Amino acid sequence: MSPYATSSDPALTLLQEIFGYPEFRGFQREVIDLVTGGGDALVLMPTGGGKSLTFQIPAMLRQGIGVVVSPLIALMQDQVAALKQAGVRAACLNSTVEAPEATEIFRQIYQGELDLLYMAPERLLLPGTLAMLDQLPIALFAIDEAHCVSQWGHDFRPHYLGLSQLAERFPRVPRIALTATADERTRQEIIKRLNLQSARLFVASFDRPNIRYRVLPKENGKQQIKRFLEQEHKGDSGIIYCLSRKRTEEVAAWLNGEGFTAVPYHAGLPHEQRERNQQRFLLEDNLIICATIAFGMGIDKPDVRFVAHLDLPKSIESYYQETGRAGRDGLPANAFMVFGYEDVAKLHWFMDQSEAEPAFKEIERQKLDSLLAFCETTECRRKTLLNYFGEARETRCGNCDICLDPVKTWDGREAAQMALSCVFRTGQDYAMSYLSQILVGEADERIERNGHHRISTFGIGKKHAKNEWMDIYKQLIFKGYLRVVGEYRTLKLAQSCRPVLRGEVEVRLRTKSRKVKKVFKRRY
Ligand code: ADP
Ligand code: ZN
Repeated sequence: MSPYATSSDPALTLLQEIFGYPEFRGFQREVIDLVTGGGDALVLMPTGGGKSLTFQIPAMLRQGIGVVVSPLIALMQDQVAALKQAGVRAACLNSTVEAPEATEIFRQIYQGELDLLYMAPERLLLPGTLAMLDQLPIALFAIDEAHCVSQWGHDFRPHYLGLSQLAERFPRVPRIALTATADERTRQEIIKRLNLQSARLFVASFDRPNIRYRVLPKENGKQQIKRFLEQEHKGDSGIIYCLSRKRTEEVAAWLNGEGFTAVPYHAGLPHEQRERNQQRFLLEDNLIICATIAFGMGIDKPDVRFVAHLDLPKSIESYYQETGRAGRDGLPANAFMVFGYEDVAKLHWFMDQSEAEPAFKEIERQKLDSLLAFCETTECRRKTLLNYFGEARETRCGNCDICLDPVKTWDGREAAQMALSCVFRTGQDYAMSYLSQILVGEADERIERNGHHRISTFGIGKKHAKNEWMDIYKQLIFKGYLRVVGEYRTLKLAQSCRPVLRGEVEVRLRTKSRKVKKVFKRRY
């Protein structure tokens, strides 16, 4: 019996006496009871939801050692340090542990003096480690960041695939997998690849009601961010995500010149500088960190007041994770993103260049399409996000740009048909400006040379001006009906455009690009 399991409600006693919280949150209690009783669980909870306790407490209550698999050494070290501070018998085995310390950890393991042992999957899967575990009583296996097993997920780590063998090798040991990524496909992949078919599924709501979502068409990204900061976030801490390392530095320097305090963060910075910038962010009240996606995992700063995206993230999952770092304290926070046609063209181009396997590329493409659909949505953002994660939500949230400033749309079915058939008739070999010119019927030397003044779509779109057609093309790209290919930005038809060409589906287009409205100027 574990030394903790003596009171009448040992789980609650642990929560209160070791962790210092009065009560369990959400379904923590149910998960803890199930796993303590030997059951398997798959826990889907947003970041900050309180997943850790759901394996830490059972590991302390059950006999033997609780083995925790986690992908990042820094994360493990933080967790272990916090646990030790609270008086929990925890350790972490990884490549940075020096020989004498490792010897001591092994001694504790064999003496049964540890409740929790953290390891990266590659360490756990070493034959020597598995052989050691064969000889020990094991309380449970906790697989943190379980989405890393999914190729569909945003953070695939091949070593996670090897964790499937735990089920066979340790059939009597309960397993609990945890993640903050919840889309249906990732979920199914976790269950399949980790052999969790008989695990009970716990899904928390992914709603973060205090985060206000806002996604605007990019005009001049930096100026839009500046206005946003000036109007809403003077003196606040926040994160600005950028696509490239260079850009994080450039944006940080620019913000400093504009009177803000900003530092860059990316994987290419010298280790000390990265640590220093991260430390400053954690400690200071008034610091903006301009970061690539390298920043964030495991950052537990409760009062991040805003997360801004100056460039598009890779997927809705990434967007949700990144924006989820705002407002952990439950107070109002902003998620602010600008997105532009240029970014999309660039991302399409990256994907074409990538040497990844076709199946993988296809997944990436679908994810980008879903993200663009989210950017372009004319429905409540929160509803769209939650629906994407499989959470039904019928009502509007009242706390996103669309709810606060509804988008005017028009029936673009006919226009979409014209625009797409113009792409088709010209052999899918031209950019949007040329195509728009054909639609409005403005012949020039190039059009005549190509004979495009004689095709059926020439001049059928006189109802709109050329720049309106450009805007329609952009929206059709965002909706995934067209792809931008190559350096000449030629438009090609995507599979999904067929029902549109046949006029079978409704196409709602937005009236015009929206500006930051007054409604956002006031804070809550
Ligand atoms: P996750 O792993 O889901 O991102 P954590 O386990 O790190 O979340 O928990 C997030 C924060 O919530 C931590 O500061 C943790 O101590 C706190 N927390 C967890 N459970 C409770 C609880 N029952 N009551 C109060 N705070 C809690
Ligand atoms: Zn809304």
